[in-house]
Amino acid sequence: MQEADHKEIGRKLKLFSFSKKVPGTCYWWPKGALLFDLIVSDLKKELKEQGYLDLKTAPIIDLDTLKASGHYDNFREKLFFTGNENEIKKNKVNWCLKPMSCPGSVKIFNEEMRSYRDLPIKFSEMGTVFRYEQPGEVNGLLRTRVITQDDAHIYCLTDQIEPELLKLIDFVQKTYKRYGFDEIRVELSTRPEKSIGSDEQWQKAEAGLVKALEDAGIKYKENKGEGAFYGPKIDFHIKDSMGRSWQMGTIQLDFATAERLDANYIDKDGSKKHPVMIHRAILGSIERFIAVLLEHTAGALPFWLSPVQISILPIASRHLKYAQKIRDRIKDKEFRCEIDERDETLEKKIRDAEIQKIPYVLVVGDREIKAKKVALRSREKGDEGEIALESFLTAISRM
Ligand SMILES: [Zn+2]
Repeated sequence: MQEADHKEIGRKLKLFSFSKKVPGTCYWWPKGALLFDLIVSDLKKELKEQGYLDLKTAPIIDLDTLKASGHYDNFREKLFFTGNENEIKKNKVNWCLKPMSCPGSVKIFNEEMRSYRDLPIKFSEMGTVFRYEQPGEVNGLLRTRVITQDDAHIYCLTDQIEPELLKLIDFVQKTYKRYGFDEIRVELSTRPEKSIGSDEQWQKAEAGLVKALEDAGIKYKENKGEGAFYGPKIDFHIKDSMGRSWQMGTIQLDFATAERLDANYIDKDGSKKHPVMIHRAILGSIERFIAVLLEHTAGALPFWLSPVQISILPIASRHLKYAQKIRDRIKDKEFRCEIDERDETLEKKIRDAEIQKIPYVLVVGDREIKAKKVALRSREKGDEGEIALESFLTAISRM
């Protein structure tokens, strides 16, 4: 196994493990679950600022809805059908685990009367979806059967498409940069052979995406026939530290689904119309994004994202009380910190903190207690000598 494999990094950093019985399913350990949550809460903060409304749609959906949306025909071999023992025996299963969140989002849109004045409505969802990937095709977090998408559906008027697309392109670029991905490549995928919707709808949608890309001054590659079955899409690819390219986010323009699922709004003239739907995911799958991020950084996550930001190493048990005082002060400042209380040598504790890629290590012993300081080691620079705790806290507050 090569050094950069995210499965190996995840084991060393104690983030996650995989089921040996169910292919493509992951168990998140405390530090892994925390990493997952940090990524999600960072996104949610931005979503709130941009006026998104967060949903949680049911994880089980009826097959009739998926037949109406077209997902049943296009996704059948990936569905996890579900029911009780009796229903399964009698072949009377009418439900499945949701393979995507769009139909659920439309169900909520349809629960209320919508006016043109309400649009755009932006429904976001950290949607857990289930897809039957072949056992031979699953690969760590890169391809799983349980996927958490940072999904959203924007219901808008035709003249709102372009400004919304421009906002999204900006949102995607800003987010990737925050994680240290500076090289972004864009691809435009057009109508596939198997598709729903009219020629006119497809032409309009494809022209809309091209216009937004041109207005944003973005160069793109065109993939003929690679769009989603309901509309064309823009995909975002990032380049990692090893020069590999990964497809992450997607923006899809859809003139067909609202009509198929009977989603309407009342227009100015009192007539009922179907809104345009924009499907979009910024990171794509959170699981896959974590895999790419771990390989990109070789596990040395940015400070703000490290599950443990600071580890305190008391040299002997008599230094524990001082270590606890320091930990309490660090926690007051809302940094994530732990004490390595094990009865191990200092060398061993330092080595373990290095393996776990903890950004900062504070060593405390007799000398530090006497000087009222800590001995600082950083992931990037190694031994940085003694420092007063408050000076250290001021320095990391600026990161
Ligand atoms: Zn969707």
